[in-house]
Amino acid sequence: MSRAFAYQALPMRVVFGVGMLAKLPDEVDRLDLRRVLVLCSPEQEAVGRLVADVLGDQAAGVLAEARMHVPVEVADRARELAAELRADGCVAVGGGSAVGLGKAIALKHGLPLIAVPTTYAGSEMTPVWGLTENGVKLTGRDDRVLPRSVVYDPELTLTLPAGLSATSGMNAMAHAVEGLYAPDATPVVSLLAEEGVRALAAALPRIVTDGTDIDARAEAQYGAWLCGSVLGATSMSLHHKLCHTLGGTLDLPHAQTHTVILPHALAYNAGAAQPAIAALSRALDASPDPPRALWELAGRLGAPRSLRELGMSPQDIPRMAELATANPYSNPRPVTAQGVEALLLAAWAGEPPTRGPLPPDTPGRLE
Ligand code: NAD
Repeated sequence: MSRAFAYQALPMRVVFGVGMLAKLPDEVDRLDLRRVLVLCSPEQEAVGRLVADVLGDQAAGVLAEARMHVPVEVADRARELAAELRADGCVAVGGGSAVGLGKAIALKHGLPLIAVPTTYAGSEMTPVWGLTENGVKLTGRDDRVLPRSVVYDPELTLTLPAGLSATSGMNAMAHAVEGLYAPDATPVVSLLAEEGVRALAAALPRIVTDGTDIDARAEAQYGAWLCGSVLGATSMSLHHKLCHTLGGTLDLPHAQTHTVILPHALAYNAGAAQPAIAALSRALDASPDPPRALWELAGRLGAPRSLRELGMSPQDIPRMAELATANPYSNPRPVTAQGVEALLLAAWAGEPPTRGPLPPDTPGRLE
């Protein structure tokens, strides 16, 4: 097989390990920052205050207003508060919402960001930002929003409830799955993807059994870091497009929607993505059918497996299929409204994933 690829590593610094929150002041020093504003969601204000305590004089204050989809008013208020407090950088502690707020401030106002992730969503490893203004969410890629440093401390994930641990972990695996068949996949990123799926698939059942198992928490966060790196390095396809459409239009919950759609999106693409299937089979205990293995894993974790459970009406299926196919994007198998409708119907009903027949002109089609 001849190989050809272009690979550019992102300039990320990562500090990983149990108790590493104690190293956060060193990370602030390394960046020559004096006083940082701590950002978190209202539900995680206590963690925000804990981080501010660890920072001592380096903390200018805590803003506990991070919300899903980053409303521009919150980003502007954060900047005003940073100016008032004479802060010269931000520390975002939390999931994709808190990190997203830090990225929006970095984009609009140039304040450097340090991320302290507490879910498995992976935003901290990507240059992708999102900002919602007048009800419209804009997204883009810009290296200025990349956190300068990421501190992963598995202790901060001990409070993540079993349900959110399971769905957030499946959300992370979705980044790796789509990275494996991405048009800009590279050998090094595919290695990260396979190892990320292996680590999460092994750790999540242990976490659901015992949320205080710190070794399992560390293994899951290690997997989430790898999967987030894959998200930052590749272009996503049908699965992410569908979840974005369902979340943005019907306001379905982020991680749960990823969990339900992933086995079906992978089944849709399986026949046209053989190297990805082989890698996932290795990662999922030599499973001969990775889409089915992911669906069964979600079941074992007690995670939702149907869009019906998430409150979606079946009447919305044709409109969602139309929206998700309105603009072209790369995908191993051609995306048709009919194919997506069948996928959504199976996902709505919570059926096991099935591979639809591939059209004869599918690139990479296997006989
Ligand atoms: P989130 O950040 O909204 O967190 C979900 C909930 O869990 C919140 O109420 C939060 O307070 C709580 N929480 C977080 N960590 C916790 C912990 N350790 N213990 C207890 N509760 C905790 O959700 P998310 O799934 O992490 O992120 C989703 C958002 O991130 C979406 O808006 C998505 O679009 C965005 N995202 C962006 C990227 C990117 O590359 N830009 C990547 C992934 C996700």
